[in-house]
Amino acid sequence: MKTYQHWINGAHSAPASGEWLDTEDPYRGEAWARIPRGNKEDADLAVAAAHHAMHHGPWSKMTASERGRILRKIGDLLADPKNAQRLAEVESRDNGKILAEMHGQLKYLPEHWYYFAGLADKVEGAVLPVDKPDMLAMTYREPIGVVAALTAWNSPLMFFTIKCAPALAAGCSVVLKPSEFASVSSLEFAELTKEAGLPDGVINVVTGLGTEVGSPLVEHPDVAKITFTGSDKTGAKVYEAAARTMKRVAMELGGKSPNIVFEDADLDQACVGAVAGIFGAAGQMCTAGSRLLVQNSIKEKFTERLLGMARDLKLGDPMKPDTQIGPIATPPQYEKVLHYIGVAKAEGARCILGGEPATGPGLDGSQFVQPTVFTDVTNRMQIAQEEVFGPVLSIIGFDDEEEAVQIGNDVIYGLAAGVWTRDIGRAIRMSKALKAGMVWVNTYRAYSFLVPIGGMKQSGLGRESGIEAINEYLETKSVMISTESGAPSNPFLQR
Ligand code: NAD
Repeated sequence: MKTYQHWINGAHSAPASGEWLDTEDPYRGEAWARIPRGNKEDADLAVAAAHHAMHHGPWSKMTASERGRILRKIGDLLADPKNAQRLAEVESRDNGKILAEMHGQLKYLPEHWYYFAGLADKVEGAVLPVDKPDMLAMTYREPIGVVAALTAWNSPLMFFTIKCAPALAAGCSVVLKPSEFASVSSLEFAELTKEAGLPDGVINVVTGLGTEVGSPLVEHPDVAKITFTGSDKTGAKVYEAAARTMKRVAMELGGKSPNIVFEDADLDQACVGAVAGIFGAAGQMCTAGSRLLVQNSIKEKFTERLLGMARDLKLGDPMKPDTQIGPIATPPQYEKVLHYIGVAKAEGARCILGGEPATGPGLDGSQFVQPTVFTDVTNRMQIAQEEVFGPVLSIIGFDDEEEAVQIGNDVIYGLAAGVWTRDIGRAIRMSKALKAGMVWVNTYRAYSFLVPIGGMKQSGLGRESGIEAINEYLETKSVMISTESGAPSNPFLQR
C-alpha cells in the first residue's frame, strides 16, 4: 500500500501529526493507499510557501507570457498518454469513476490548461476617460493573492484543473485541499507540475479532514480567496468563516436540476440525454438531471422507453471498458442514497425501477445501487427538492411550458437545466425563463473550457471556465496620477 505525503513548496512533506488516513477503493472495498492527515501546522506551512512564491519567488517576477508557457507545458504533460493513463487509473481507483469516463476527461483537461495559458497575457487594465484635466486614471488587473481551493471527491482532477489553471494564469498561487475520500490524483498531478517548470510553492496540496486542515486554510490571514466545490451545508460554513476576514469566495455547490422533455422533442435523443443525465457517474454529479419533467401527453410512452434503456445499463468494475455504472464512491454517500430511496418510498413516490442495493456477481461487497426511477413524484416531495447525488431519478409530469418553468424553478438550487424540443422559439423562451447557471437544449452534460459554468440561487457563487473564470482570481486597482506641475493653489479643494 503506497503512502503519500503532502506536496508543499515543490517537495513531499510528511504530516506534522505523524498520522495518515486510509483511502479506499470503493469497488474492492479495501484501503489501497494512505494519505497524510493534515492539520493547522501543515496548512500554515503550505500557505507560507504559497505566499512566498507569490510575493517573493520567481513566480512573482515572471511575465504573464512566461506563466502562460508553463501552463501550456502542464497541459502537454497531462496529455502525455503515460501520465493520462496513470492519473485516470488512480482516480478511478480512488472514487470508483469508470475508467472510460476518466479517459474522456483526461483527453479534454489539457484544453483547459492551453486555454488559460493563452489567456494569461491577455489580461489588460484600462486607461479611463477622466473628468479632471490634469489627471491620468488607469486600472491594473492584479492577482488576488493566495488561493485556497477546497474540493469534492467526485472529480478531483477536473476541480484541480478548473480552479488552478485560471488562478495561475492570473498570477496567483494555490493551496489545494482535496476531499479526504479521493486525494491521490491531486497529489500525483501536483508533482507533475514541477516537471513542467512550475516554481516551488505555486501549487501546494495538503490532505486530510475538512475540519482539521480545510478550516485552518479558510481562517488563514494570508489566504485571499477561497474557491470551494462541495455540499451546500459545508459551503455555507466555509462562506461564514471566510466572511470574518473578508475573503473573496467562489462556491460550486449542489443542484436538483430539471431535465425537461416536451412532446415535440426527438424522443430517442431525449431518452439518451435523460439516462446519461442521471445515471452517468452513477448520478454523482452536481449537474445530475435528477428531476425528469415530462409533458403529460407523452409521459407514459417516454417512461417506457426510458425504462427499457435504464434496465440494460451495465454495473461493475469501473476499470472494465464495458462498465457503464460504477459503485457509489464513499460509504456515507452510499448510506445517503439508500436513505433517500427510503424517503421517496415513504412519501408515496412509486418506484418503477431499482430501488435497492445492486448485488450479484462482480457487485457483491461493493457499494452499488440499482439505477432507480420513481414516478408519481410531486415537486413538493423531499425526493424532488433535495440533492441525492446518486442514480435516482424522479419523473414529474407537466401540461405546458408555463408549468414546466414553474416546476423547474421551484427548488432552492439553480445549477443546470435541460430542455428537449424541436421548437426553436420554445427552446429560447425556456433558456431565458429557467433559473440555472447552465441551460442545455437538446443535449445534457456538455461542458467546454470556453463556457462559464456555475450556480444561481443556492447552487453557488462565481463562475468557472471561460474568460469569467480568470476574473475570479483578479482584482482591480485604480491609479490616478496628477500631471499638474507645482503645488495646488488650495490643497483642501477636491480636485
Ligand atoms: P463536502 O462539502 O463534504 O466537502 C467538500 C470539501 O470541503 C472537502 O475537501 C472537505 O474535506 C472540505 N471541508 C469539509 N468541512 C470543511 C470545513 N469545515 N472547512 C473547510 N473545508 C471543509 O462535499 P463532498 O461530499 O466532498 O462533495 C459532494 C458535494 O459536492 C455534492 O453536494 C455536490 O453537489 C457538490 N459538487 C458541486 C459541484 C459544482 O461544480 N457545483 C461539482 C461537484 C460536486
